[in-house]
This record gives sequence, C-alpha cells and structure tokens, in this order.
Amino acid sequence: MRSILIIQTIILFTLGSCSKERIPFLPQFSEIDYLIKNGTIVDGTGRPSYLADIVVVGDQIVYIGEEDFSYDDSKVRIKNNIDAKGKIVSPGFIDLHSHGDPLKYPHMQNFLAMGVTTMTLGMDGSSPEINPLSLWMEEIDKQGIGPNLAMLIGHGSLRNLSGIGVKKNPTKEELEKMLSILNESLKYTFGLSTGLEYSPGLNAESHELRNLAKVVGENNRLIMSHMRNEDDDHIEDSIAELLEQGEYARVHISHLKSVYGKGIDRAEEILNILNSARDSGIDVTAEIYPYNASYTGIGIVFPIWSKTQEEFNKVKLSKREELESYLVNRINQRNGPESTLFGTAPYTGKTLADLSHEKEMNFEDILIDEIGPNGASGAYFVMNEELQDRLLLDPNIGICSDGSISGYHPRGHGTFAKIIEKYVVNEGMLSLEEAIRKMTSFAAKVLGIDDRGILREGMKADIIIFNPDKVRARASYTDPFLLAEGFDIVMVNGRKAWDNQKHSDQLWGKVLKPN
Ligand SMILES: [Zn+2]
Repeated sequence: MRSILIIQTIILFTLGSCSKERIPFLPQFSEIDYLIKNGTIVDGTGRPSYLADIVVVGDQIVYIGEEDFSYDDSKVRIKNNIDAKGKIVSPGFIDLHSHGDPLKYPHMQNFLAMGVTTMTLGMDGSSPEINPLSLWMEEIDKQGIGPNLAMLIGHGSLRNLSGIGVKKNPTKEELEKMLSILNESLKYTFGLSTGLEYSPGLNAESHELRNLAKVVGENNRLIMSHMRNEDDDHIEDSIAELLEQGEYARVHISHLKSVYGKGIDRAEEILNILNSARDSGIDVTAEIYPYNASYTGIGIVFPIWSKTQEEFNKVKLSKREELESYLVNRINQRNGPESTLFGTAPYTGKTLADLSHEKEMNFEDILIDEIGPNGASGAYFVMNEELQDRLLLDPNIGICSDGSISGYHPRGHGTFAKIIEKYVVNEGMLSLEEAIRKMTSFAAKVLGIDDRGILREGMKADIIIFNPDKVRARASYTDPFLLAEGFDIVMVNGRKAWDNQKHSDQLWGKVLKPN
C-alpha cells in the first residue's frame, strides 16, 4: 500500500513538473512589456523585502513571483528585460505636498530623479483660479506631465472664485457659491487644501471651515491644511482648529513643524495630541519634509494686519513704528536675520543679515522699504532637528517635499533621496521597508488612491529600481537645483520616465482621478 502511494506520488510529481515546463508563461498575454528579474521587492506595505520577478504589461503589474519560473518563451514576446539583481524594486514615491507649474515645466525631472512617480498640486489653499478646475487639468493631460498628478482644490482660490476674496464674513450667497464650486470640483479632485496662514485663507473663521468640511466629508475626500500658525506656542490651537473639521472629513496636516520649538519631548507632546484625536475617531494624518528650514513668501514674517499690499501701504504710513517693532521681534524669535536666506532675485543666496550689512540699513527697514510682504521668498532656518526627526519617525506621518522644480530650497530636488540616504542608510533611524511604506502606501491611503503605492498584481506599474547605498540627495541650500542620484529606473504607468539620470522625451504621467 505504502509503495503504491510512493509510486503515485512520484508519477504525479513528475507529471507536475513536466506540465509546468509545457505551460506558456502568462498565457493570456502574447507580449510582455517589461520583465524585471531578480529584484529585491520592497512592496510598500511595510512587509519585509523578498526576492521576486515582476512582469509589466501595458500600465499594469500583471505578475509578481516569489520563485524563479521556467516557461515556454516561444509563446510570448518579452520586449524589455531588466536585471534588478542586487537592487531594490519598490513602488514609486508619492509626494504628499508639492508645488510647480506643469504647463511651464512638464517633465518635472526634479521629482522623477528622486523616485517620485506621483506629485500633488493645489496646496496651501491655492489652485489655478479657473472654474471648473477640470479645464486646467484637461490641459495638463493633453500636454503631458512626467510624473502623475493628484490635484487638490484650494480654499483661498475658492474664496476668490466666489467673490469672497479677503472678506471676513462671506454672505450666505457667496458661501453657497463657494460650497457648490467645491462640491463640483471634489468629483474629480482628491480634496480641499487650506492655507490659513496666507491671504485670503487667513480670513476664514470656524463657521466657514466647518461648512467646507461637511462638503468634503460628504464627498469622502480629505482636507490638507497649512495650518493657521506653525509657531510653537500656537501649534495646539492650530491643530485644534483642524480637528474640529475632522468631525466631518479626513484631515491632514501639511508639512508638520514646530517653528522655534525644541527637543524630543516637545515632539512627543505634539504626537500625543494627534494620537488621542485618532483614538477618539478622528482620521488625522500629517506629513513632513526632512529639512530644518522652511521656504515661503517673506509675508510669513509680516503681521496679519499687513499681509496684503493694500494693508501694507496703509500701515507703512499709519503704524510704521508698530510694524518695525513687530518685525524686529518676529525675526529675532525666528533665529535672527542670518536665518532668513532669500531665494528670489535680486536677493538670491543672501541672508537678511547680509543685506542689512551691504546696504547699511536695519533689517526691519529693509523689509519695509526694500522688500515688502510680497517682494521676495526665502528659506527660514526655524526648526529643531531633534524635534522634527522625532515627528518624522511616527508611523502616521508621511513624507512631502513641499518643493518645486524652481524653488530655491534643496527639498524640491533632494527630499525623497535624503530619506533613503540619511534616515535609512547613514543613520539607520528607519528601516528601508518602513521608509518606503511612508513614501508609498501610506501616502496613497491618505490621498485615497487605490491602485498605486503597493507592488501587487493588478496595480498600476509605477515602479522604481535602485541601490539604496548609491542614493544621494545632492541639493543644498547654496546649490538647491542639483538632481538626486541613484534611482536607476523610474517607471510611470509602465513606461520608463527616468533611466540612468535621463528623462524620457515622452511624458508618461497622468492626471489622476479619485475612485
Ligand atoms: Zn505650506
């Protein structure tokens, strides 16, 4: 009895392996666009890496095999073989907060070079002021774009489109108009962005924000917010304001930071607020960029009563002294004039202290008489590395560049490479799997993108191939436009968008639609 069983087993086994040889590989396809062999798969979920081959047909991943396979290759044509031996194969990165004008810079090679296959626009309350926004998005799709684009609609832009502008209290009609444009736009955008530290968004009060949040929630989208005030002594209030909106919709803190806060304990306090909100049922997440300087318009240092040109012109005559002393305090609180580095002509590369020295003027007078609240942008060294790094390690905090191809700050060209180079390889603060999870599936989940961010059969083929030891974020504050190195192949929708430090002539990105 036993020997019959053994013989049967041998026969079955032999038949099995013979028939495996005869089966054509993936018989449903006559052509395979890419066969990526022998790679170490980090699939984006956070699970440990494993060895496998990946097959791409069209814009889709159609096979991921953990074992080597043999197949009848007379039945299928493999158009491109990629040997990924010794390299990591992972989903392309998703940048949760980016900037730029794709009509002007369609290739967006700064993003591709650091492994980003999906960027996001419409941030900080500001999207193109075109109604409907879909017209602009169609234009991008027609022209093409290097990485994919996930679009949000900006609250400040909605205010302008519905005739509210800088008014504190919109009329009932204006509010309804804004809510109806929002409701329409959310059919094809991923959510609403607010920029409550900027004009005109800063004029919005709780009633308005709650009404917006209801519409966002009804559409199952999210609110991404540049909060009202990122100064350390205002963080609690700013988060509380966002969490109020979290009663109606998913909420997300853009570029979480504490301006002039310090230390790990302070970071833990901030994380505790978010954790207890989550415990009470509010879906709140955040993202961060790995640099200690922010970058924005110089208006950030001006008081709320002189942010617009009109207000400023008045204040300059009527309250000059008050404005001067405000600016002196504000700049000193933000680590002094040497910590403001201008990134726009004619001051590019100079600090406010440099200008003060050069022109033999007090820095507050330079801000008032030479620059004004809308006259320049710059980097501000206002963050504490220990605090920011602790925030960055939290599992509910993702990664953004908050950068652009033309912004004078290294984050626009370095962010995602720096996460691998510094946090994974050099300092071992994050495992490779966890770092990649933050930059892929976590980001996809925040935005509500179902078919990207994980390497899995049936998902879109946004795939990157790299050796972590060779990844370099080369951009610096003095040389912010150096492209990142080390991402050998960056595939967008199943096509090579970036190949050995060169972008494809063709634009393979798509304007993404929410499910
Ligand atoms: Zn912002």
